[in-house]
Amino acid sequence: MRHPVNVIRGLRFRLTVSYLLLFSALLVVIGLYFRHSLEVQTQGDVRAVLEEVWGEAKGYLRIENYRPHWSADTSDPEDAHIMERLRYVILLTDSNGNILIDSPVYESIGIDSPDEIRRIMALKEPEVHIRTDSAGIPYIIKAGVIVADDDHSQRYFFAIGRSLADSERTVRTFTRDYFLSLLAIIPLTGLLGWALAGRAIQPVNEVAQAAQKITGSNLSLQIPLRGSGDELDHLIASFNRMTTRLEDSFEQIRRFSTDVSHELRTPLTAIRGQLEVALFTAQTAEQYRDAMVNALEDVEQLSSIVRALLLLSQAESGQLVLQKTTFDLGEVAEDVVDQFQIPAEEKHVRLTAQIEPGVAILADRTQIERLFSNLLSNAVKYTPAGGTVQVRIRRDEKKNWGRIEIEDTGVGIPEENLPHIFDRFYRVRNAQTNLIQGLGLGLSFVAWIVKAHGGQIDVTSRVGSGTRFTVRLPAETPAGVAVNEAYSAPVEPQRL
Ligand code: ADP
Repeated sequence: MRHPVNVIRGLRFRLTVSYLLLFSALLVVIGLYFRHSLEVQTQGDVRAVLEEVWGEAKGYLRIENYRPHWSADTSDPEDAHIMERLRYVILLTDSNGNILIDSPVYESIGIDSPDEIRRIMALKEPEVHIRTDSAGIPYIIKAGVIVADDDHSQRYFFAIGRSLADSERTVRTFTRDYFLSLLAIIPLTGLLGWALAGRAIQPVNEVAQAAQKITGSNLSLQIPLRGSGDELDHLIASFNRMTTRLEDSFEQIRRFSTDVSHELRTPLTAIRGQLEVALFTAQTAEQYRDAMVNALEDVEQLSSIVRALLLLSQAESGQLVLQKTTFDLGEVAEDVVDQFQIPAEEKHVRLTAQIEPGVAILADRTQIERLFSNLLSNAVKYTPAGGTVQVRIRRDEKKNWGRIEIEDTGVGIPEENLPHIFDRFYRVRNAQTNLIQGLGLGLSFVAWIVKAHGGQIDVTSRVGSGTRFTVRLPAETPAGVAVNEAYSAPVEPQRL
């Protein structure tokens, strides 16, 4: 089932919106920064001119006994131009605020009050400030003290200014043009962001579509890697590994239930057949008794399968907790070998043990005894009369582990069967041995024990010459090996 993606909450939309917001904020900040720089720059130019004008005015202005006049030659065009510049925004008053010179522009800005004049005249340096006229045009004004030429004790208030209209117009034009262009740029950026986010999300959508095709029945489907080696490829690889593991588990469960039903059906059919035959044909008590004995044997087999399955489920769910102690591997081997001497002698099989003393391991003693008895019972069972079974215990050179070798001169296992002998219910079909078949669970239990202890098991075999099982067990448990993580093979608790 495909889930429709909510566009507003979708990754593509969110990516585009974040990108757009970030980009717009960045453009606005950049715009404001340049606007400020432009303002500072253009005002700086006007201030420089103002300083020039201030200097010129002081140079040309003469005041004698409250009577100001300009020492310029107005017939000279250059002086005339300077005078025009000076007189544009100008105010000259005495210290009480009585106007001596002013200009219409200054009047529209507002003549300074006597208090203001006194305040500025009290300052050490002339003051520069910005004021606007009645029409809202800003002017930059420099105001300060000027002294009379004849009597240096007489001080006057003098202010001169320049219009900031040009500067402000430049800044305003820039601001308007810049922010208007943003109105076009931002939607275009949004479209570009939407397209880019779409491209970035595309592989994710493809992966989602591929993942949707995978169901319980086609877990073998893998999402193809894109080959870019990026995070998405990493995700796909992890996802593929997960489906592979799931497939393995599904397969194991499927095989297991098939095996179980198959294993249970055979003895059940046999019991049913025996009982039916007895019911319809048996006449004597002896015949009934035989039928019941046969049926009981099959019931016994059924019980052992059920017991084994029970133990298996316990092992798989982690309920079979290993009781670990440190013990001498040789001692356990010797005990089990002793137990198998009688069955071996009965089969005319020579059973010997070579034990290196002091090989200690940290393990569950009961499970290790089970391991020995399963391997030894197989060795004795599959070795014909006159053969030998050898048990060797020594320290493993590689890792200072305990090493168990059980070698027989028996029938051997065909090479094609070797990879399967640890599987549940797996039995080698061997016409020559003609032996009573076991449950095919013993070796899988052995494998489970080895794995649960963090060890290794290997087998080498040649048909007709014999088989050797080699088990290596660590002297201490490697970190992180828990029983329920271990190989989950079924178990056969009661070995022959
Ligand atoms: P079973 O109960 O049948 O012995 P196992 O799981 O113990 O089940 O063994 C699986 C199969 O491996 C057996 O059916 C047998 O054919 C083969 N096998 C195990 N050990 C030996 C051995 N020592 N020599 C020959 N074949 C063996």
